[in-house]
Amino acid sequence: MAVAEKAKRNVQRKRKPKLMAVINEACTGCSGAPICITECPVDLCMYEVKNPHAPVFNLVVVDPLLCIGCNKCVTKGPMDTLLEGCPWDAIDMIPLDEYEEKYGVMPY
Ligand code: SF4
Ligand code: SF4
Repeated sequence: MAVAEKAKRNVQRKRKPKLMAVINEACTGCSGAPICITECPVDLCMYEVKNPHAPVFNLVVVDPLLCIGCNKCVTKGPMDTLLEGCPWDAIDMIPLDEYEEKYGVMPY
């Protein structure tokens, strides 16, 4: 399913997400048990890589082609509600136009 999902996201999407999750420098990797990955509903959208500055630790990366901007990986929901995502404020939800200005236009 993840492969099919990924293939789908590599072609034109029907709708762009409004927001994109971007991991910031505060990511600790959660000692190998990333809460964000357990909360993300899209298979393989978030994955671990070695932290280049501290190779014994991992960091999480978001695949921008798979992120649907659902906010489930963060702790701050609408109207200041609390969600069960990253406890370290290590994920920024960025409006897609800002994301594209910085990282280039997404192929969807
Ligand atoms: S916003 Fe949603 S889809 Fe994107 S990384 Fe977070 S939980 Fe996954
Ligand atoms: S983004 Fe947050 S929840 Fe995910 S691994 Fe990093 S610190 Fe942990």
